[in-house]
Amino acid sequence: MQFQNNLAFAKSLDNLDALSKYKSEFIFPQHNGKDVIYFTGNSLGLQPKRTKKYVDEVMNDWANLAVEGHFYAEKPWWDYHERFAVPLGKIVGAKPSEVTVMNTLTVNLHLLMVSFYRPTKNRYKIICEEKAFPSDQYMFQSQVHFHGYKTEDAIIELKRREGEHNLRLEDILAKIEEVGDELALVMIGGVNYYTGQVFDIKTITEAGHKVGAMVGWDLAHAAGNIALHLHDWNVDFASWCSYKYMNSGPGNASGCFIHEKHHHNDELPRFAGWWGHNKERRFKMEQTFEPVHGADGWQISNLPILSLAPYLASVEMFDEIGMEKIIQKRNQITAYLEFILHEIDKEVKGHFEIITPQHPEERASQLSVYFHGEGRSLFEYLMKNGVVTDWREPNVIRFAPVPLYCSFEDMYHFGQILKSGIKK
Ligand SMILES: *Cc1c(COP(=O)(O)O)cnc(C)c1O
Repeated sequence: MQFQNNLAFAKSLDNLDALSKYKSEFIFPQHNGKDVIYFTGNSLGLQPKRTKKYVDEVMNDWANLAVEGHFYAEKPWWDYHERFAVPLGKIVGAKPSEVTVMNTLTVNLHLLMVSFYRPTKNRYKIICEEKAFPSDQYMFQSQVHFHGYKTEDAIIELKRREGEHNLRLEDILAKIEEVGDELALVMIGGVNYYTGQVFDIKTITEAGHKVGAMVGWDLAHAAGNIALHLHDWNVDFASWCSYKYMNSGPGNASGCFIHEKHHHNDELPRFAGWWGHNKERRFKMEQTFEPVHGADGWQISNLPILSLAPYLASVEMFDEIGMEKIIQKRNQITAYLEFILHEIDKEVKGHFEIITPQHPEERASQLSVYFHGEGRSLFEYLMKNGVVTDWREPNVIRFAPVPLYCSFEDMYHFGQILKSGIKK
């Protein structure tokens, strides 16, 4: 399709958009009496209007039933999490028994590493990406220290080539091959938080397995954003937060995937708690731990129902729409934003460059733009003019045109605001 940088054209795309009605299902911060243009759904998704109902329901059940709510609430609390298995499984491409919700992302990755990072004398190295999300870097460092290894020795970072912004698949595969039988674990973010690069999860997982390593994924920027087939891709484990593309509120509960092939392996160590114990016998308060055979067997505590409620609202919304439609719109609106950026860049003469890969297979709902010149003041100008973005050192602004609540018209208006900010 030949895009045009004008309001009538943007509106015509909105008219054709099957998801346009969902914009009104979200609550937007206001700027001069109007909804902001929200580009930071990759950091904290907007609040769906339906969420309050889910939270109120728990508050009311708690008020009216107190402890009896565990069994007699509208949605009983003792197995509340089981409502996620089917719809969340569809979002990440997993069997219902392979997904669960619990804790928060970094905590879950640590817990999963207890089971899946089992270093031995010869096989103890971890491959991760250079400049991984800081929490992941701290996690890797503290895990290898915990096992008695040194960061420099045990952690192998995948490097970008000189002058390039993104990792090349061939370089990742070559590194896996090179570390070979010293490699215990490969763990990468499915979508890089800084550049928006999407990795080939299937191929990288296969390559890790070929040399005998476990392969896990941090899907913080991938869940609810890209097509995932975790079961078919034979991924060992994965975890994601629910507050980015999944719109379930600040710091909210995380999701986990553990491949079925590991469910019956009682040799795998884990840090256990009563919520992972055989469901039928949980309240018998027995001494011996007998895990649920499934991802739920990794749960530890009684679940935070008030935080699962917004997550459930969101998962049900995703289920109602389906990832396919979300991805279809995502591709179109990201391409339209890219077009608008290029048009404006022509007018302001090479003021910036998009560092996110151009190829649609290698990117999703985010374009990261490197500004040559006044990045920081431009970011502030955008914020003052009702465009919410985020700033990353040294000079990058990230834009996530989230398909559920961003419109093509937003992209057009954003272009005009950007142009006036640069000309100023
Ligand atoms: C957002 C994000 C996190 C955040 O972790 P929390 O434990 O939820 O604070 C971790 N890793 C990546 C890659 C992220 O993008």
